[in-house]
Amino acid sequence: MSETIRSVRQTFRGTETLEGAGVRLRRMFGNSEVPLLDPFLLLDNFGSSNPADYLAGFPWHPHRGIETVTYMLHGKTAHEDSLGNKGVIDSGDVQWMSAGSGILHQEMPKRTEGVLSGFQLWVNLPRDHKLETPSYRGVESRDIPLVHGEDGREVRVIAGEYQGVVGPVQHIPVDPVYLDVTLPVDSEFHLPVKRGHTAFAQAIEGTARFDGLGVVGEGSGPTAPGSDRPAGAQPAPTGPGHTLLYGDGDAVRIRAGSGGVRFLLGAGRPLHEPVAWYGPIVMNTREEIAQALADLRQGTFVRGSQIVNEV
Ligand code: MN
Repeated sequence: MSETIRSVRQTFRGTETLEGAGVRLRRMFGNSEVPLLDPFLLLDNFGSSNPADYLAGFPWHPHRGIETVTYMLHGKTAHEDSLGNKGVIDSGDVQWMSAGSGILHQEMPKRTEGVLSGFQLWVNLPRDHKLETPSYRGVESRDIPLVHGEDGREVRVIAGEYQGVVGPVQHIPVDPVYLDVTLPVDSEFHLPVKRGHTAFAQAIEGTARFDGLGVVGEGSGPTAPGSDRPAGAQPAPTGPGHTLLYGDGDAVRIRAGSGGVRFLLGAGRPLHEPVAWYGPIVMNTREEIAQALADLRQGTFVRGSQIVNEV
């Protein structure tokens, strides 16, 4: 049986958004894209050299029913939560927080020399995990394995697996893959992704052909299986600030452009459940949202706590 390379189904350029107490960021996808990226709900990209764009931060706020995944590329974000965790997410660190039945936390970017940049991804929890005990994984940069290729490529494995190397974030309900990939000029990246799972790429630097078609300057290749694009009508390579949603298939294939490329690759098992979304709370029904708001008013939002710090 031959392998089907996934084609790019849709490209998102994101929207400038003001979040928290006034943080300027780019929302690559969110509420209005549901359920396209199921089980992923939202991807925010923050990046600024002007502290006025981020210092207001995200003061104390609740979450329920989701996981929030913060990946700092450069800079520091102080955090504190109702589980009793308190610390700093530093350059290269990942915070994978499962809000479960309810957590209160704050996320406050610190004044950074140069550009403060990173991503926050929201991963949905399945119905039977939405009210589980909140947990927290603080993964330091040094605990994220870095796979070096002979061609100079570097792959940081946050979750999932690349060439037999398994990331430190495990036992997440949607079986996620989350990689930070840097490829040299004109090289090719290939990764099997489970059929039926949702996959997306987020370009960070440089350019690439995310649909795996011909290397830049090589002329047009054949039409990809499942692609409605005629041979010879290939688009220019995609640059930074784009999110690409893949169609179904067995694997993704990405060819770096003439300056190399850095991108995030995410994948996970879709839930196919109804989504009731109110700000930082995402449940299955409106009744569950009403219950969450009642719990907030009555001071019963945070039910129990347990600290999970596996690495
Ligand atoms: Mn938050």
